[in-house]
Amino acid sequence: DPVLHLQGLQKTYNKGLPGEVQVLRGVDLTLHPGEVVALVAPSGAGKSTMLHIAGLLDVPDAGTVSLGGQDMTGLSDRKRTAARRSDIGFIYQFHHLLPEFSALENIVLPQLAAGIARGTAEARARDLLTRVGIAPRADHRPAALSGGEQQRVAFCRALANQPRLLLADEPTGNLDPETSDQVFGALMELVRGTGLAALIATHNLELASRMDRVLRMDAGRLST
Ligand code: ADP
Ligand code: ADP
Repeated sequence: DPVLHLQGLQKTYNKGLPGEVQVLRGVDLTLHPGEVVALVAPSGAGKSTMLHIAGLLDVPDAGTVSLGGQDMTGLSDRKRTAARRSDIGFIYQFHHLLPEFSALENIVLPQLAAGIARGTAEARARDLLTRVGIAPRADHRPAALSGGEQQRVAFCRALANQPRLLLADEPTGNLDPETSDQVFGALMELVRGTGLAALIATHNLELASRMDRVLRMDAGRLST
């Protein structure tokens, strides 16, 4: 089964009101295990709306979202939340790390919440930090880390519970070009080392070209 299958997604905001905006007009997408796909879209094209729907944070007006072959569309909010927590990792432009906790602890906490034992969670966090090249920073709080290091920690946190799907919205959009390039390289190594499927929105065409496929979003539809 594909990791993610989107079929015929439609979404309109403010339906029937003066501010009505039809954002998704039939979005279809299939992502297989190990596939890393770039999503390139002009601002306002509906990229965040699509990522939220794919990430089970919002529901479409029409169409279906399937994860691992299971249709999520008709599930209760509780089941969708459970599926989101176990199957999906999110990365944003800003890291959203907890400021009072160390880098390591930021990666450990979601694992504890998922019922993983502390020893196992810490070992996994250290392994992830090593893979993105910042193991020596494990005990630093976010404020003591550079922007690139903060984002690397956020990548580790997103993968801490071994999701099947990674959704990233401008993961390096807040970094200068050189740091962006290095941090993106670290993200690719991390993703390639796990076999998970990733959908990564970016304005950076050079970064997009390093992924397996590039999809463009325009006028509420995807094209290659
Ligand atoms: P992108 O991420 O590609 O910039 P978005 O999905 O955020 O696009 O937004 C697409 C369009 O939908 C924009 O015109 C935006 O103003 C509008 N929009 C997004 N969210 C809402 C909302 N909650 N209510 C009304 N309009 C929205
Ligand atoms: P938790 O309560 O364990 O933090 P949630 O189910 O609330 O988990 O969220 C799962 C993921 O979705 C988290 O990475 C969180 O940052 C993200 N998330 C939750 N709500 C929103 C939202 N409204 N917009 C964007 N991302 C969200």
